[in-house]
Amino acid sequence: MPRLLCEAELAQQEADILVEYTAMDVSHILDSLNEQQRNAVASPTQNLLVLAGAGSGKTRVLVHRIAWLLQAEDQSPFAVLAVTFTNKAAREMRSRIEALMGQAIGGMWVGTFHGLAHRLLRAHWQEAGLAEDFQILDADDQLRLIKRLLRTLNIDDDRWPPKQCQWYINGQKDEGRRAANIEHFEDDYTKTMLEIYKAYEDACERGGMIDFGEILLRAHELWLKNPQILQHYQSRFRYILVDEFQDTNTIQYAWLRVLAGTDNQLMVVGDDDQSIYGWRGARIENIQQFGEDFPGSDIIRLEQNYRSTSTILNAANKLIAHNHSRLGKNLWTDGGEGEAIGLYEAFNEQDEARFIVDRLQDWFNSGHARSESAVLYRSNAQSRELEDALLRVGVPYRIYGGQRFYERLEVKNALAYLRLLINRNDDTSMERVINVPTRGIGGRTMDSIRSRARQDGSSLWQACINCVNDREMLSSRAANAVLVFLKLIDDMDQACAALALHEKTEYVITHSGLVPYHEKEGGEKARSRIENLEELISAASSFDDPELGDDVDLSSNALLAAFLDQASLDAGDTQAAEADDAVQMMTLHSAKGLEFDLVFLAGMEEGLFPHKMSMDNVAGLEEERRLCYVGITRAKTKLFLCHAESRRLHGDVNICRPSRFIREIPAQLIDEVRIKSAITRIGGKPFSSGIRDDAEIPQTELSLGQRVTHGKFGEGIVLNYEGQGSNARVQVNFDAVGSKWLVLSYAKLEVIA
Ligand code: ATP
Ligand code: MG
Repeated sequence: MPRLLCEAELAQQEADILVEYTAMDVSHILDSLNEQQRNAVASPTQNLLVLAGAGSGKTRVLVHRIAWLLQAEDQSPFAVLAVTFTNKAAREMRSRIEALMGQAIGGMWVGTFHGLAHRLLRAHWQEAGLAEDFQILDADDQLRLIKRLLRTLNIDDDRWPPKQCQWYINGQKDEGRRAANIEHFEDDYTKTMLEIYKAYEDACERGGMIDFGEILLRAHELWLKNPQILQHYQSRFRYILVDEFQDTNTIQYAWLRVLAGTDNQLMVVGDDDQSIYGWRGARIENIQQFGEDFPGSDIIRLEQNYRSTSTILNAANKLIAHNHSRLGKNLWTDGGEGEAIGLYEAFNEQDEARFIVDRLQDWFNSGHARSESAVLYRSNAQSRELEDALLRVGVPYRIYGGQRFYERLEVKNALAYLRLLINRNDDTSMERVINVPTRGIGGRTMDSIRSRARQDGSSLWQACINCVNDREMLSSRAANAVLVFLKLIDDMDQACAALALHEKTEYVITHSGLVPYHEKEGGEKARSRIENLEELISAASSFDDPELGDDVDLSSNALLAAFLDQASLDAGDTQAAEADDAVQMMTLHSAKGLEFDLVFLAGMEEGLFPHKMSMDNVAGLEEERRLCYVGITRAKTKLFLCHAESRRLHGDVNICRPSRFIREIPAQLIDEVRIKSAITRIGGKPFSSGIRDDAEIPQTELSLGQRVTHGKFGEGIVLNYEGQGSNARVQVNFDAVGSKWLVLSYAKLEVIA
């Protein structure tokens, strides 16, 4: 096994590094911990479960444990494997350990399950049964592939929606099941799904592609099928540490269990109340299972919360007490009581957004950093309204977990060209860019090429060549267009061969025609797409892969491949890059593990949160409640809950009831924010004509949320008002022209009954 040989070199490095970690004073590692935390960090037991509520220092314990192992127990960083929830968390963990140790640490494996498994597969691709240049399929690519397969298989995609098939396949993989191992029991549904799953597996195999679920599945099979590789890593990773353990799924748990074997030390930290990925196969039961599967394991509970005010913590505790299936915990804090939780009832989503932006601005004006504030919501679609409101007042924000950089259309297009440079048989990339920008290769031509590929069992690239050579299946115009594309890729490949990674990227972006193509869209959109392409070039120039070492040839395909892998893995991450000084916006799911001074939970309405898909069954509802618990416990000093009376979402306006979760928080912890809800028209100029004595005029009242009509702008809704007397201005959101501020005494607004 040639790959393991270089591990021998690693062992030499390891020995060198060990010399540097001579016994030092280690008291500083324990100093800033409470007694329970200290017990966990210095625990002599082989297997340890730290079970504790939010903000009790679980992640902190993990970091300190690693520092302890390296300094107090003189272990080598090569012996440590730490699993975190996101790539960002992994980077943070490494830097926190380095800060504690006062020196850089190399050789330690810290990453997500996917990142670590992927690293193993790259090193042992042959034993894992993969192509050397295998490509990662992200969720979007996966869905496209499934759509194509349904067409090939002649399966009606109305009856068998591609998303549902994707869901089925991923679910099976999370449970560690391949199509060949699933019994259909003559059930039609299962039979069809299996047919699709099988075809999907074949297509991935042919194209040298693996999806996220497959990464984990293969890494597990790698252990089972190659005892010598397993043994090697078992004897290397003596210390395995896992954060957010409550959200591991079956296959991740199995992978860990095999790696830990009987001799290694496993420390996991988690909180059953924060298990929020049941819908993606995570198994809370793994926590209960731990004691059985790892005999002699110890449980340590942490009970002091260091993050939040007692008001916030009480709210969270009271809320989660409504769940029945819990292991039960007791969280307390000696922090101050802090401010009451603000509750705002907006009349619609725009009013909600305006409220949030106003409060944020107050907060910044009193000197707080923007990055210490977060707006959390249940569904990605909610962000647009909030973004609009922030943009209007020019407050920078950053969205996590939505459309992230590497998932953007233009970036994926550029990456697809780069992928083709190193692997012409990458069918997904072929499909993506063969006619982007448009070069006259239409749907019919593509159908011919696809059917040729099926017929020959070849890649699309090869099918293109065959079609062009045979001159049978394609018209000469189409054949010409295809030829131009093939030549483009070959020429780019040649021109790029000696260029450094960022030059390659720039070359491909310039010569693929993507810039003028995206420019054609015009406007702000086009500008931001071009900026993103430029950003990709700078990402390439700052990219370096610690695995490849310093002396890597900048023009090598290995570096390009590593860059492309990183892009795929980042796109699968639920959190994104480093924080700027910007308001942090993200879904509740993406917020776990994080903390902010000021937090808003937006859209606390029945049907939205708890989500309507999960409201009707106890398990689903309890998971939603845990998600709410996660949301509340992100806040350190101030929390606002917001809900709207009516909300336009996915195009429909719904009348909404406040979320039950609001009622489950004791009323004395909540301070309802009242905004004066009526505007009095002042100045004695009523809608009707004539100047009258003020005293005689019946006061006309406009309320927020009221529908009004204006002579020029038509109908709209009153959103806001400011000023008094003749200065009073009112903001109306007109159906036809959007939101406008009008001077009340001139506006001649008619109230619509
Ligand atoms: P979550 O469940 O949300 O992931 P957690 O249990 O991992 O939370 P941490 O993020 O490790 O909690 O800690 C929460 C906050 O409390 C952090 O700011 C951390 O630095 C602080 N903290 C934890 N323990 C202590 C301690 N003993 N002394 C002072 N601060 C602490
Ligand atoms: Mg944590």
